[in-house]
Amino acid sequence: MERTDPVAGRSAVAGEPLARRWLRACAAVGQPRMRSHLLITAVFVLLFASFVFSLARYWTGSLAPRLYLTAETQARILAQSQAAALLETIEHGAPGHLRSKLFDLMQEILLVEDPATGGRIVLGLDLQIDYEAVPVAPGSLELQDGIRSCERCFHASIPLIGQRGRLLGVAEFLMSQRYFDTLADEMRSKLIAESSIAMGLMALVWITMLVMFHRLHKAKLAIEASDRAKTRFMANVTHELRTPLNAILGYTQLYKQDAPLMARHGDGISSIDRSAEHLLMMINDILDFSRMGEDNLALRPEEVALQTFLKTLVEMMEVRARLKGIRLERRFQPGLPSVVLVDEKRLRQVLLNLLGNAVKFTEHGHVQFSVERRAGAGERETRLRFSVQDSGIGIGPSELDSIFIPFRQVDNEITRAEGSGLGLTISQQLVRLMGSELRVESEPGAGSHFWFDVDVVVVSDSGDAGAPSSAAEAPASAVTERTFTVPEAAFLEEFTEQVRRHNVLGLREMLTRLDGRPDCREFVEYVQPYVRSYRFKPLLEWLSRISPG
Ligand code: ADP
Repeated sequence: MERTDPVAGRSAVAGEPLARRWLRACAAVGQPRMRSHLLITAVFVLLFASFVFSLARYWTGSLAPRLYLTAETQARILAQSQAAALLETIEHGAPGHLRSKLFDLMQEILLVEDPATGGRIVLGLDLQIDYEAVPVAPGSLELQDGIRSCERCFHASIPLIGQRGRLLGVAEFLMSQRYFDTLADEMRSKLIAESSIAMGLMALVWITMLVMFHRLHKAKLAIEASDRAKTRFMANVTHELRTPLNAILGYTQLYKQDAPLMARHGDGISSIDRSAEHLLMMINDILDFSRMGEDNLALRPEEVALQTFLKTLVEMMEVRARLKGIRLERRFQPGLPSVVLVDEKRLRQVLLNLLGNAVKFTEHGHVQFSVERRAGAGERETRLRFSVQDSGIGIGPSELDSIFIPFRQVDNEITRAEGSGLGLTISQQLVRLMGSELRVESEPGAGSHFWFDVDVVVVSDSGDAGAPSSAAEAPASAVTERTFTVPEAAFLEEFTEQVRRHNVLGLREMLTRLDGRPDCREFVEYVQPYVRSYRFKPLLEWLSRISPG
């Protein structure tokens, strides 16, 4: 029987042999979910290993030596007390019976048992006497009893010093190590029990994390699937809505040219026209937003006469600014290139959105639109900074981060009346596609400043303003003659796919991956200008020529 995971779309076979399941699990290792599971498991294995290692070090380096020292001290104290009895007998015993008394005493000492272990404490005893200090015949008190040597037991040599401070002899004790063994066993068992509890808790946390992660992942997949379905639905609906709207707009344009009709119904027709325009703008925003989700938003650069482009933009905004009674100031740096390679439609969309917002959120004062040339781009490129500054209501610091989030608007009377909250999200995405970042500074009550820098290929500079040249095509032909190492087939295939999708960000990311490879330096240097200038068609042609397939 085959089951299909409704979310992941993978199938599992009940009763499948273990080897096959194992193979399938191995194949799944490459998937992000498996990678995260493996990462969590690896972290825990590392934690377990370091925990066990620290325990072992604690035992061998600290606890066991301390226990040994304790047991050794105990043995020494006991030997001292037994030696005191021997000294007493030697000092005060009658010389005639001294040998037998000492022998009996040694027997008694050897019989002493440890109540904790139940075994003998003193295993062997060797008595050496200084016959000059003890008044007995030399050699008469050479006494030795019990075992003579042992491997792990403690040795304690106790000097027998008489009352007048004279050394009478030395008693050599061999003490049992059983006390140490019992102590060590007890401590080891305690340590193992406690660390097992700790490791059990760690395992529990690990399993809980895996289960939670698994559930979160499933929920994420379900949300993503539903999000994709919604976005696709939005894209379909908005696409369908555009057709009738275009028809409405087409007719209002026709009616606007009919003077008698305009004389009678001018207000109504203008109102229909304005509303339809507004609706179309909203629909276009939603369509762009849904394309963004599907990764389908792409740039199509073409040669653009910069001055004309900027002039048209200003003209479009001037009417709205004048209607609101604010000044639209333009500051275009002298010496801007005359023809550049950009996606005109998308750049216009971003700038119209920024200018439109500036006019919308400014009640008094001015809106300043400036374009300047900045240093830092490549040989045939120039960096342009576009900025829009206004003296409007501004944005509070807490809201500044959220204005780029879809549908997010700062609540005020203007936003309550109009806007979808998508303009800045789409603009930021488009600016990122151009390889830059839309930035903002704002102060409530003082105004806002939005700006971004883009590197554009200069087709014709100010000096030779005129028709777009074909210079931009030069490297394509130059390269066909060049031979250099290209990356492996799998990389080229993925690269070609990204070129086909016009995915500039993806291409840049792939090229950074090659950064550490000197053999691919020429390849990177060659394709980079194409990527920067969005010239995907010649790049695609070149890739199809060099690809091994
Ligand atoms: P919309 O303008 O359709 O509401 P946007 O994404 O363009 O959506 O802008 C998001 C929000 O950012 C706006 O609703 C507004 O609150 C704030 N905002 C954008 N530009 C400005 C500006 N120039 N001055 C003040 N607030 C602005």
